[in-house]
Amino acid sequence: MTRELATDLIHHPYKPPEGFEAPQVAVHKASTIFFPNVAAVRARDWRYKNGYTYGLHGTPTTFTLEERIATLEGGKQCVLAPSGLAAIMLVDLALLAPGDEVLLPNNVYGPSRELARQELARWGITHRLYDPMDAAAFARAIGPNTKLVWLEAPGSVTMEFPDLTGLVAAAKARGVMTALDNTWGAGLAFRAFDVGLDIVMQALTKYPSGGADVLMGSVTTRDQSLHEMIKLTHMRLGIGVGANDAELMLRSLATLPLRYEAQDAAGRQLAGWLARRPEVLRVLHPAFEGAPGHAHWRSTCSGAAGLFSILIDPRYTAEQVDRFIDALRLFKIGYSWAGPVSLVVPYDLASMRGAGRGGLRGHLVRFSMGFEAVADLQADIAQAMALGLGDSEGA
Ligand SMILES: *Cc1c(COP(=O)(O)O)cnc(C)c1O
Repeated sequence: MTRELATDLIHHPYKPPEGFEAPQVAVHKASTIFFPNVAAVRARDWRYKNGYTYGLHGTPTTFTLEERIATLEGGKQCVLAPSGLAAIMLVDLALLAPGDEVLLPNNVYGPSRELARQELARWGITHRLYDPMDAAAFARAIGPNTKLVWLEAPGSVTMEFPDLTGLVAAAKARGVMTALDNTWGAGLAFRAFDVGLDIVMQALTKYPSGGADVLMGSVTTRDQSLHEMIKLTHMRLGIGVGANDAELMLRSLATLPLRYEAQDAAGRQLAGWLARRPEVLRVLHPAFEGAPGHAHWRSTCSGAAGLFSILIDPRYTAEQVDRFIDALRLFKIGYSWAGPVSLVVPYDLASMRGAGRGGLRGHLVRFSMGFEAVADLQADIAQAMALGLGDSEGA
């Protein structure tokens, strides 16, 4: 039977030779995936990685990324979501029902608290904030309806590092599920599952991407039935990831340990220099002696993210601090971290509830290390401080 060209262009007999191998994982793009026969359609089960059913439920590209993230986190199963926040939402929706309560640290990633305050509240799920630096108060905060506890180590603005082991043990003793936002640790600073956590979530947007150009989140588990609960909710919510984004992530993942270590070293160097500046009241970096929770960081971690905050002396006005930040040239003003460009964001301490904040004074400014030379970043801060903070009221 001869066919028309239009059909031949689609149903073409050529198949490339098998056995192609190259350093990067192939990008498989699909909504539709062909089944070999009717029996295969009837036998489909998208809970497991033993076949393909539909683009949203996995391709060789996304399966590969999930397996690599599971390995990174020290877990067994992983589900990808289109952003870190979507991964948080996925955990909340998979585990919580009306009447349940979720506990959040009072220094939690802000949008996670807003999700609880707005959406979860409308669906009859309540939340309570706890002080992650007060293990006794945390144990008291766990109530009969508490189903899930979120942890973060450290808080990503005020940088206090909690006693993860103690908090997880207290939750476990009450039969409460624990989930860690591991964006700061990136799977490298410490082995989250060894602490006893049930779920490890990460904003892959940050360190695994490293490019500040892709959004993605992951939810990793070690327990098959817990994974299946999350996977089924994921499927029903329809929050899969795009093939091009998965490709970017796979490509970046190879250099993750090198980048994490380099940005850690650069961050500590710059934070050490800032600690000696007369304009700076205090440096908030968990690897620094005297930082809130430093002893917990030391007993838990082998490294740190290139992320820290400083408290500028309160003798300066808020306008002076704004002028300092506006005068920075290499540091760009922007959210997120772990990309190639160093970033700065001012935070208003007065409007933030949270751990140890009672003891914090001054103007909080957070820095995220890029890949520029530290000497140039230092010079940038020095010139901006001279312009913005001047000498009239300062040192
Ligand atoms: C950025 C971030 C998130 C959310 O990630 P997105 O991909 O931006 O949604 C969650 N938690 C922490 C600690 C983060 O820094």
